[in-house]
Amino acid sequence: MALIKSDVLVLGAGIVGVSAALHLQKRGRDVILVDRHERAGEETSYGNAGLIECASVFPYVFPYDLRQVLRYALNRFPEAHYRFRDLPAFLPWLIRYILASSPERAFRSAMAALPLIQRSLVEHETLIAEAGVPQLLRRTGWIKLFRSNATLDKGIADLERVRRYGVEGDVLDAKGIAAREPNLSGTFAGAIHWPAPGFIPDPGALTKAYAALFLRRGGRFIAADARTLTQSQAAWRIEGPNGGLMGREAVIALGPWSDDVFRGLGYNMPLGIKRGYHLHLAPRGNAVLNRPVLDSDLGYLLAPMNQGIRLTTGAEFARRDAPPTPVQIERTLPLARELFPLGEAIDATPWMGRRPCMPDMLPVIGKAARHAGLWFNFGHQHHGLTLGPATGRLLAEMMTGAAPFADPRPFAAERFR
Ligand SMILES: Cc1cc2nc3c(=O)[nH]c(=O)nc-3n(C[C@H](O)[C@H](O)[C@H](O)COP(=O)(O)OP(=O)(O)OC[C@H]3O[C@@H](n4cnc5c(N)ncnc54)[C@H](O)[C@@H]3O)c2cc1C
Repeated sequence: MALIKSDVLVLGAGIVGVSAALHLQKRGRDVILVDRHERAGEETSYGNAGLIECASVFPYVFPYDLRQVLRYALNRFPEAHYRFRDLPAFLPWLIRYILASSPERAFRSAMAALPLIQRSLVEHETLIAEAGVPQLLRRTGWIKLFRSNATLDKGIADLERVRRYGVEGDVLDAKGIAAREPNLSGTFAGAIHWPAPGFIPDPGALTKAYAALFLRRGGRFIAADARTLTQSQAAWRIEGPNGGLMGREAVIALGPWSDDVFRGLGYNMPLGIKRGYHLHLAPRGNAVLNRPVLDSDLGYLLAPMNQGIRLTTGAEFARRDAPPTPVQIERTLPLARELFPLGEAIDATPWMGRRPCMPDMLPVIGKAARHAGLWFNFGHQHHGLTLGPATGRLLAEMMTGAAPFADPRPFAAERFR
């Protein structure tokens, strides 16, 4: 049996692993990218809403508003859903998330992630240029619609808050909404157009384009099961299809499946899952959606993907591997049809993805405390597409001893000890 050697095994070929592999390669490392699929970008990094959210300074917190909590508890509203029978499984994580959502702690998390958010689009622009796929970045920004004056006022207050960090947004009235998106129907109190965020009309293709760049530059991609990871003689080993794959170092970048590997090595980090769904639909007639639109009070987003109009849902709290329960698609589809002329569904069934979430809303990036040569890069929650390249760069700088462009300490795994 052959033994294939490398400097680094990067486990997981979603946007996070592929970006880390590219950044390590740029810094002279010989990298093998490992995924259980034959191709990169087949899981969460395929099905998201495509936003490079450089305007999203503050994370998605659990609401400290009793009325909203009661709404969620009743489980009748589309923006969040939970599988009642899974409650015991996710409750401990949820309690930690609720505690970390206090204004002070959420602010601390936001400030820790700010340098990553601020670099997010720039890092993508570099990789998109190098990968030769400028058509996969649209500079349309996105629109957040508000159905009531109360939510619009809160949206405007949020805009004022993020303006302090250099983020711009245009407040729109009905005329402004119609000028930007003439095919929307409904009664809106107003909207905010966030012009700066990038929109990726095919996030899976972007991940594949980055993986192709990695291969063109001499990287290797091998389909194998990361759960076979073992440490052997100061190196890391995976069982590949034709023998062992060895790396002096290994990076766990398995997104929502990262705990399948780190738990076996004795690490006990609270990786939670917020599931989400999408469904592609054909636009009716000549209707055009120019950019992603979030119907914020009704809890769904429409994005004009290459495959069709992608309806994406908010968070579902459930066990990672529980069967799909796409009630949020069922509830929002009629609302979406009222908003925009949607025709036939293109997919036979809704797609389900799993956002890998740490309770403090920050990813885990850095060294494993008890294993030489083992590194973590996972837990990018709602912003993995956004942050993949920026966190890949940060990790590669840490692994190669370069000065990190952001303070990595808030992302250390030891914060969960
Ligand atoms: C509905 C929805 C909308 C979203 N919208 C946005 C958005 O607009 N903007 C944004 O920034 N983010 C968004 N996100 C979040 C984003 O998609 C994720 O944070 C991101 O894709 C996570 O990337 P990843 O590489 O960590 O995980 P993944 O893309 O899931 O990659 C993990 C990889 O690990 C591999 N793997 C798993 N187990 C094994 C194993 N045992 N052996 C080998 N390989 C294995 C998988 O095959 C997979 O390729 C959204 C998510 C959802 C669900």
